[in-house]
Amino acid sequence: MNQDFPKRFQFNLSGAGCWLTLLAIGLLLGAVGLGWVVNGFLIIVGLVIISPIIGWFVFRLWLKRNLVEDKCPVCAYEFTGFNRTDCQCPNCAEPLKVEQGHFQRLTPPGTIDVEAVEVSVRQIED
Ligand SMILES: [Zn+2]
Repeated sequence: MNQDFPKRFQFNLSGAGCWLTLLAIGLLLGAVGLGWVVNGFLIIVGLVIISPIIGWFVFRLWLKRNLVEDKCPVCAYEFTGFNRTDCQCPNCAEPLKVEQGHFQRLTPPGTIDVEAVEVSVRQIED
């Protein structure tokens, strides 16, 4: 006898039967007057499918608005930071503030950078 037949029949049943069962349950609930259960279920399924897609787009939009790519005002090293946050230059470790899409130094205005130069005692005496 053909032993392949029951297996194939079972396979077809598991594929279409799942949806048929769901449809039958849906129709049954609708007939009983519990159509809102079916609607609610469909809405939940829809939300589960749609919300990650919406979430992804919102996240992308948020990233686009908040990611700032600029050069460090001290060493001109280009890197990325988040808008309205404090960060540190990965190259020269200068504390920076992100404002209006540009990096700004955290040091108060009027601060003058000085580079210490070693002066030998002899030079002063001369
Ligand atoms: Zn820097």
